[in-house]
Amino acid sequence: MGKQQEFVLRTLEERDIRFVRLWFTDVLGFLKSVAVAPAELEQAFEEGIGFDGSAIEGFARVYESDMIAKPDPTTFQILPWRSENPGTARMFCDILMPDGSPSYADPRYVLKRTLEKASEQGFTFYTHPEIEFFLLKDLPGDGTPPTPADQSGYFDHTPRGIGHDFRRQAITMLESMGISVEFSHHEGAPGQQEIDLRYADALSTADNIMTFRLVMKEVALEQGAHASFMPKPFSNFPGSGMHTHVSLFEGDRNAFHESGAEYQLSKVGRSFIAGLLKYAAETAAVTNQWVNSYKRIWGGSQRTAGAGGEAPSYICWGHNNRSALIRVPMYKPGKQGSTRIEVRSLDTGCNPYLAYAVTLAAGLKGIEDNLELPPGADDDVWALTDAERRALGIQPMPQNLGEAIDLMQRSELVAETLGEHVFDFFLRNKRQEWEEYRSEVTPFELKKILQVL
Ligand code: GLU
Ligand code: MG
Ligand code: MG
Repeated sequence: MGKQQEFVLRTLEERDIRFVRLWFTDVLGFLKSVAVAPAELEQAFEEGIGFDGSAIEGFARVYESDMIAKPDPTTFQILPWRSENPGTARMFCDILMPDGSPSYADPRYVLKRTLEKASEQGFTFYTHPEIEFFLLKDLPGDGTPPTPADQSGYFDHTPRGIGHDFRRQAITMLESMGISVEFSHHEGAPGQQEIDLRYADALSTADNIMTFRLVMKEVALEQGAHASFMPKPFSNFPGSGMHTHVSLFEGDRNAFHESGAEYQLSKVGRSFIAGLLKYAAETAAVTNQWVNSYKRIWGGSQRTAGAGGEAPSYICWGHNNRSALIRVPMYKPGKQGSTRIEVRSLDTGCNPYLAYAVTLAAGLKGIEDNLELPPGADDDVWALTDAERRALGIQPMPQNLGEAIDLMQRSELVAETLGEHVFDFFLRNKRQEWEEYRSEVTPFELKKILQVL
């Protein structure tokens, strides 16, 4: 047994941990968990724990349902909200087939495979997510809008507001689980929060995002509220993005940095952005996977009423331009490590493993094909007319999930990155969601049409 496994077993004993939850993620990004007794763990490290994969969204067909969850000891953490003795801990798992080979349905494996590709080219992929979400007083679920937990706005410091206490407790809990937080503040909409995690390799970030969502829900419940990662819960307030700052490192060197170049951005960095732009539309079904996601990225520059709330809706890049899909943040003099790219399309409802996999794959393809970066957009692209945008060659993001699925279905890049199994399941599942949505008569239609026709 390895050192890390031994450390886990020793900690279980020393800290009186009686329950170990083995975590993994289904294809749509929902967290799954199976609890094992510490006595079973030694065997779980050796062989994994068997479970019925056909019960998990996207994992297996009924006739090939046996699967194995094998815990990754480097992800061992005690769950701070189960602090009573005996305690509870968790580890993320890799999913294996009965013969011990990696399961093609495991989103963690999809990301690992893509990271492997980057590493063959000498790159490590770092990510730093800005996670926005809503704190709500209720979750009605019957079609009526929820009630935000507060009425504050961007960067508001509310005295003893629920948001303030909430962020304090949430951050303390994240840090006690080894997840470092860089910034946090109230976002533009009532009840909307933002917490930014410190940069880490993309696999750790994706694991951290899964933990983050659960921690936010737990802390919210403790304070009598609910956390929601729905991309756009309110028609007239901004939605929740998961902007992610990305960079590639070659050893200690930031491959996106070149002293003296425009924005200090290297050729590798420029081609990476070109790849992100080229594949933005066909990867959108993965980065923005819900019908509701497309209500966020329709455009508008205002943080408040009626607008898209600074969510990108056009495929372009800009230096410090928040209306662009890709932003190259200001360079901090002397800090070559800080040269990075902000990808603003992702929303908080994505499966982080799959979304980071397609993002990285698009950027790598840009490098591989030596793509040239088109000119940046200096203007507020929301304020331009369609004709002006066309003249600049700026395309819109897909307008809805249906369009995004059609584009994904034709995408070699997405098929190759997700692998056949996840690609097929994902398309089938999303097509069904789109069809259900299309057949629904909405309050909008009833309000607009019932009385006038
Ligand atoms: N909430 C906005 C979005 O949906 C982003 C606001 C910001 O710039 O942080 O992307
Ligand atoms: Mg924000
Ligand atoms: Mg941002």
